[in-house]
Amino acid sequence: MATIISRLQAVRSRIQSAVLAAGRGQETVQLLAVSKTFPPEAIREAYAGGQTDFGENYVQEALAKMRALADLPLTWHFIGPIQTNKTRAIAENFTWVHSVDREKAAERLAHARPPGSGRLQVCVQVNVSGERSKSGVSPDRAPALARLVAGLPNLRLRGLMAIPEPTPDSVLQRSRFAELRRLRDDLNAEGLALDTLSMGMSGDLEAAIAEGATMVRVGTAIFGERARR
Ligand SMILES: *Cc1c(COP(=O)(O)O)cnc(C)c1O
Repeated sequence: MATIISRLQAVRSRIQSAVLAAGRGQETVQLLAVSKTFPPEAIREAYAGGQTDFGENYVQEALAKMRALADLPLTWHFIGPIQTNKTRAIAENFTWVHSVDREKAAERLAHARPPGSGRLQVCVQVNVSGERSKSGVSPDRAPALARLVAGLPNLRLRGLMAIPEPTPDSVLQRSRFAELRRLRDDLNAEGLALDTLSMGMSGDLEAAIAEGATMVRVGTAIFGERARR
């Protein structure tokens, strides 16, 4: 059976090839290892393989892992749906949040972020797939939400995140990622400074990198299949 370290290496080479194929510079794409449902030991193994950034979707599960792994210098990213009653725990314990999709969540995170922790790094999640997926702000409302985040204290707007629906249609798949990139470019053209496009997962990271992803969020290809929750 392949180990986590060998799968991590395989994912890094996929990223590397996609970066080369896209004619992009080395080190322009960061790997976020999505460890949801996997135990602390799996994260320890990935850390031994050089991985320091981990993404989690469920707050309680993440907090337990943070406690179990407090001896390691890890950076935690919250990538799941933000429940209003969890904003304080998120603001206090994570370095990044990729899934801000409404004003209220942004305001609560800003309010709850302990000033001594530095600014919370935020991506606005955009629903680029239309009706079929529920998470994320619609593309037409994304700019207003991004401007709001950029103006809040204790938050730093880093970029945009999307989870396009899986599709065998590679043209459609690319177009979803391209849409997120255009939104980012438009916001930067009006004076914001977004440096992050959080897009691409185990099945579609090549397409995302071709369209400008700067952070890919990869779970299954590193840790294996998840048990159904
Ligand atoms: C689970 C998850 C991932 C990882 O998906 P894989 O297909 O396992 O790579 C990435 N992003 C988000 C937001 C997720 O919830």
